[in-house]
Amino acid sequence: MSDGTISVKLLSDGIIKFDGGALFGQVPKALWERSVEADRYNRVKLGLNCLLIQTQGQNLLVETGCGTKEPKKVKDIYSLGTSRLLRELKEHGLSPKEVHGVILTHLHFDHAGGCTRLDRSGTPVPTFPKATYYVQRAAWEEATSPNERARASYHPDDFLPLQEHAKLKLLDGDQQIAPGVWVKETAGHTRGHQIVVINNGGDRVVFLGDLVPTPMHLNLPYIAAFDYSPEDTLAKKRDLLQRAEREGWLLVFPHGEEERAGYLENVGGKRHLRPVQLE
Ligand SMILES: [Zn+2]
Repeated sequence: MSDGTISVKLLSDGIIKFDGGALFGQVPKALWERSVEADRYNRVKLGLNCLLIQTQGQNLLVETGCGTKEPKKVKDIYSLGTSRLLRELKEHGLSPKEVHGVILTHLHFDHAGGCTRLDRSGTPVPTFPKATYYVQRAAWEEATSPNERARASYHPDDFLPLQEHAKLKLLDGDQQIAPGVWVKETAGHTRGHQIVVINNGGDRVVFLGDLVPTPMHLNLPYIAAFDYSPEDTLAKKRDLLQRAEREGWLLVFPHGEEERAGYLENVGGKRHLRPVQLE
């Protein structure tokens, strides 16, 4: 979508599968399997959605998917497909050097994996060599000293090279990244998790991060077992969805597969998603 000032395009790094039990937390499978089918390992297929925001000559990327570094073991566990992000950027006429900024909702490998790639010697280097990478300081601190429960979700090669190459910008709370493009801290999934809010004229587009990873998570008790503070996720999700419904925000889900973006509608007191195609 575009009104001539900010253009927002939905890209994808491909497909990943997560364990359905972990993805829906305390919700029993007898309920969630009415909306989505699990494979024989109980895994559910998810998208790895990213945004391309173009404003005033700046190309900003939100999220980077899993990227190309994952070893076979990780690819097998998560049934990870081929990384598509660079190909999709190219289809929009952009090379990695033309990305000016990368906004990361948090540093789990399925969001930050594509931040770096392996060079010819096998060393991880920033995929977008001219970009500044934006992440909340609290998210960085969790990722660089994770506890036993969080450790498996973080792959240091995804983000430590950003600091080594001086490409990292740590944020403290809500901040404007470019005219009309804001990040808002919504800790709960991780410490320092942030969402991205784009104000385009009178329209608002919100990239939800793992605050609401898929349209199924619009259902308030659907909260992933990964979340470090599910009660915080719940409170922030409840508040945000109320405002989104009232004010008509266009919501973008990082892990939506068939339905990746849409508007909330209230029919007879029940909230529904009216999906839209965002390219
Ligand atoms: Zn995720």
